[in-house]
Amino acid sequence: MGQLMRIKCQHCKKRDAVYRRLASGEVLCVQCLANAVVKQIRKAMSVYPIVKRDENVLYVIRSDKPLESITALKLFLKAVSGLNVSIDVLCIDVNSNGLCNTVEEILKRQSLEVRKIISITVKHKNIVNSWLKLVKLHSVLPLQIARKEHITAIVQPYFRDELTFLNIIGLIMLKYEVFSEGMPVKKSYYEDIRISRPFYYVVSHDIAVLTYHNKILQEYMIKNDIGFIPIDERESYALELSKRIFFESPELMYASTKSVELLQSYIVKNSTQCSYCLSLASESVCSICKSLIDVLESSKTSV
Ligand SMILES: [Zn+2]
Ligand SMILES: [Zn+2]
Repeated sequence: MGQLMRIKCQHCKKRDAVYRRLASGEVLCVQCLANAVVKQIRKAMSVYPIVKRDENVLYVIRSDKPLESITALKLFLKAVSGLNVSIDVLCIDVNSNGLCNTVEEILKRQSLEVRKIISITVKHKNIVNSWLKLVKLHSVLPLQIARKEHITAIVQPYFRDELTFLNIIGLIMLKYEVFSEGMPVKKSYYEDIRISRPFYYVVSHDIAVLTYHNKILQEYMIKNDIGFIPIDERESYALELSKRIFFESPELMYASTKSVELLQSYIVKNSTQCSYCLSLASESVCSICKSLIDVLESSKTSV
């Protein structure tokens, strides 16, 4: 009687499928989904200067999505294997809730091969009151470390839909420094350093599914104070908008990103660069970094 019908993975045709991908509609098992994401990372690496051979890289664990950041790190390590890239991991704790100890513990349990783990605790509770500010903080602090440690590439696990979201906020606010956050690479005008987004073609849903299916990471999901997502009013409006675009038509998401990119290159022609976050800006310190730096300097940040 009633044998449970399991759908097989469309790709390997062997293992049970766990997920239908939003953009392509493919029905895949965990392993084939992971392989597909690694392929997307390699695609971004072949189109944009994400990482170079023999480079020292600083990988940022996002304060808002630490577990997804670890899933993404695992896939990134696979994508760069053979390039002799040395990877330091940076954890930023904006809530002083021991996030970095947890991250360190998980990285050990997952036996991910990184050179070292650097932790920063920002001892100022209300420094980040919007997601955009958190995104900037994920550039400002890593850049300070990269300059000290001779690191030339900072890798941030932001995903396609999030970068589209940043583009939409950029359009709404009409600000260079927000626009540039949606780009695959932010390259310094003055020094050999850049901020890279190897997950430019990867949607966050795929990473969420892979995180959910990882037994070790699953244990930590129950601890509910891991991760932290601040969102302000303007952002929730843009978020609604971008979610609608994404769910109604992933095609439209890809197409709109392309046109924003074109628009961007036209608009940003005469801009300068913010030295704190490497975004294009109308001044040498962008408006968002300005508000961050003041608080960061008055508060104690421990490394
Ligand atoms: Zn499969
Ligand atoms: Zn800035």
